[in-house]
Amino acid sequence: MNRVVQRLQPFQQTIFATMTEKAIEHNAVNLGQGFPDEDGPRPMLERAAQEILHGNNQYGDGRGHTELREAISRQRERARGQHYDPETDILVTVGATEAIAATVLGLVEPDSEVILIEPYYDVYAAAVALAGAKRVGVPLIPNGKSWTLDFDALDAAISEKTSLLILNTPHNPTGAVLGRDVLERLARTCVEHDIVVLSDEVYEYLTFNNREHVSIASLPGMRERTVVVSSAAKTLNVTGWKTGWALAPAELLAGVVKAKQFMSYVGATPVQPAVAYALDNEEEWIHGLVDSLDRKRQKLADGLRAAGFDVHDTNGTYFIVVDISPLGYKDGVQFCMDLPEKCGVAAIPVQVFTDDESPWKTKVRFAFCKRDEVLDEAIRRLHALNES
Ligand code: PMP
Ligand code: GLN
Repeated sequence: MNRVVQRLQPFQQTIFATMTEKAIEHNAVNLGQGFPDEDGPRPMLERAAQEILHGNNQYGDGRGHTELREAISRQRERARGQHYDPETDILVTVGATEAIAATVLGLVEPDSEVILIEPYYDVYAAAVALAGAKRVGVPLIPNGKSWTLDFDALDAAISEKTSLLILNTPHNPTGAVLGRDVLERLARTCVEHDIVVLSDEVYEYLTFNNREHVSIASLPGMRERTVVVSSAAKTLNVTGWKTGWALAPAELLAGVVKAKQFMSYVGATPVQPAVAYALDNEEEWIHGLVDSLDRKRQKLADGLRAAGFDVHDTNGTYFIVVDISPLGYKDGVQFCMDLPEKCGVAAIPVQVFTDDESPWKTKVRFAFCKRDEVLDEAIRRLHALNES
């Protein structure tokens, strides 16, 4: 008997877990699930170890370690020129994932509508379903070799019931970075229709080609209606620390705080001062990471092109999207399911992040947050596709 609640029945095991399992099964190079294969800054790791050894192992403050909230506030001020009060406007969460779920559960009424930009990160759809709300997809549309927002589709998607829009820039999976002009237009639309925005900025540092990350919360009329979500995961190479945060003025954050306290109450305590240390002191290291990812991005893009794919532009994140049609393939899911066994590489099909899969069926995502020799090996293996 299927005892899973109806709200969750449409959801399968996440594609990330599925493809990582396949990668392990076939000893494939895993360019599917996005996690780096190198550690974050050494002094940060040492600080976490010291915290554990010196007794910081019990429940911490419900809103997160004070030192971390203060460091996040300073980071936001420095990087984005935005002020969030560490006492009232910052909540530390169990990864960005919990911040997303708590925002949706705490701010979205059942039966209201939430706009998701397609392709959307899988957690958004599940959070909307758990809240008993309805998701309404608005597809990204091609813009040169990248993508941008479709404002006609957005206007058509907005209704009386729209309560929240979930935005993600730099965008997973496409690597698109929405420019200031696009965000300004989106901001005007949200203000006009009184829509709250969840702005997922976990890749806020990972931009290339001189693209600047703009937080929609910094635009006129948006601070009071935006919950910014970010995380240590991508910025500091610690996806396993599951330490993220939500930023919003106190009145808006109240719903997020309420939901979060009954989900996990608090996150892991000893890593929080270590993340605080890194936000305050490891900016150089972060810039080094971005430079190194930029080189990896070019290496993988060249390799994928040489292997016969049509390669899209990546202006942010650590993912590259390719089109598989030049190699004669028509279905990204099938392609990705076969790839680990066929040539020893794992990737992620983009269509699983959409409701209308037609424009995305031949798009596949590869991660480049891996050591050079790992990328070289993946590229070598992918050449077999061209030869078979
Ligand atoms: N949002 C996006 C767009 C992501 O790609 C990810 C995956 N890292 C998350 C949120 C989740 O982040 P965390 O691991 O901090 O929960
Ligand atoms: N954010 C990571 C990605 O997009 C995966 C996170 C996860 O496994 N849930 O690859």
